[in-house]
Amino acid sequence: MKKIHKGCRITMKDIKKEGASILRKQLDPVSIPVSEETKSELDCMLMYLKNSQDPEMAKKYKLRPGSGLSANQVGINKRMFAALYQTGNGENTALKLINPKVISHSTNTIYLPEGEGCLSVNREVHGHVPRYERIKVQAFDTEGEKHTYTFKGYSAILIQHEMDHLDGIMFYDRIDKERPFLNLQ
Ligand code: ZN
Repeated sequence: MKKIHKGCRITMKDIKKEGASILRKQLDPVSIPVSEETKSELDCMLMYLKNSQDPEMAKKYKLRPGSGLSANQVGINKRMFAALYQTGNGENTALKLINPKVISHSTNTIYLPEGEGCLSVNREVHGHVPRYERIKVQAFDTEGEKHTYTFKGYSAILIQHEMDHLDGIMFYDRIDKERPFLNLQ
């Protein structure tokens, strides 16, 4: 596991908590080509996720484990996020997506049975968050190249959670107030 490199140490105190106005903002698009500053911001965001998933590092720096981090969660007004998750075969997928757009999605929706969590929310929120089971996303990488990605299942949920952040939407906004656990009926 790589050490946190100098000048790039995001810890919990750097993460904006609910109530911060930037979490409710529609973020600005990133200009292409991608600046060096933006690249290093994304590197730092991904590094946070890596460290937070490493039990030793997480303990040492008191990091809450996370699989996604959007720019506004660390106070940056740019439409981009980092994600780090394990796929079915146990391989790690690391993503840095810039100006992502959903170009198509399934009609079917799914949800995490245990509900969703968020590094910006320090309390348990109960209820199911309906998400499209499958999404196709177009986004730029840090080299300014446009790619199309297909996500399904857990990764589709994670990516939709992060993309919501770019529009100022929190996961609990999507929980049905009347029937928080029955929203797929
Ligand atoms: Zn979140």
